[in-house]
Amino acid sequence: MITLAIQKKGRLAEKSLELLEHCGIRLKNGSRDKLKAASVNFPLDLLFLRDDDIPRCVEDGIADIGIVGDNVVLETRASVERVLPLGFGKCRLSVAVPKQIPYADIRSLEGKRIATSYSNILRDYLDKAGVQADIHPISGSVEIAPGINMADAIFDIVSTGSTLISNGLKEVETILESEAAIYRHRDLSPEKLAVMNKLCFRIQSVNTAKDYKYILLNVPNEKLDEICRILPGMKSPTIMPLGDAGWSSVHSVIKEDTFWEIIEQLKAAGAQGLLVTDIEKMIL
Ligand code: ATP
Ligand code: ZN
Repeated sequence: MITLAIQKKGRLAEKSLELLEHCGIRLKNGSRDKLKAASVNFPLDLLFLRDDDIPRCVEDGIADIGIVGDNVVLETRASVERVLPLGFGKCRLSVAVPKQIPYADIRSLEGKRIATSYSNILRDYLDKAGVQADIHPISGSVEIAPGINMADAIFDIVSTGSTLISNGLKEVETILESEAAIYRHRDLSPEKLAVMNKLCFRIQSVNTAKDYKYILLNVPNEKLDEICRILPGMKSPTIMPLGDAGWSSVHSVIKEDTFWEIIEQLKAAGAQGLLVTDIEKMIL
């Protein structure tokens, strides 16, 4: 049995629960409003916490593993081990300055006041660069600090950059790329590690499947060779004769990022009746 800490409410909360659901892990009915929930079909207890509390809870062993952003783990300086990145909650932590201010490189921050809710990450970075600056820790609405003359620059989470622009700021330095990941307690028993690995195996199958599509198409037999050359499947494609003499049905798996290009080539080569479906789980 392992305890997994996830965010109770916020950007990672729904995604974390959805991921567990896709892994076939069902929770006891109505347990969502409480602090804890148990699974009915997997040896897992859930703890719902504020994301800032998750790294410490995993470090202390109150939770065995947690789903939390890299940014939060680094800021809390918790001693935990990163096990598996999850591909959601992506963001970056960047320095931004008012757009009319000239900025050359990190040394431009020398002697400046920088407002942030990520003091530790910023301090580590500036120390490494040998830059002395005055860090102002604030807990929210960091982007308004230059406008009210509280700071010369800010260091904050950016996802699209539109908040910066609407506050007259420009992003000048990216210090950290972050995403949600599974982190674990440093000293787990072999039993707990085995459960964690089982969970990670399921997560990887779900996440790998998201990068691929399953494709079925009808092909005149004389075009089979050409079509098979276009299809970069995991192995060679499955080919089955159709009821119509002279035609075959071809099944394969293709990567989402090459998808449209390949579809066009297949059509040009004479494929018909293309069907494309999502893949729910995939084990490589
Ligand atoms: P809590 O109440 O749990 O403390 P919070 O307000 O601190 O929540 P959220 O805004 O829900 O946190 O963000 C949680 C995490 O989502 C962040 O720490 C970060 O890892 C990730 N994230 C991804 N994109 C963004 C974004 N645009 N703004 C803020 N966080 C983001
Ligand atoms: Zn938080």
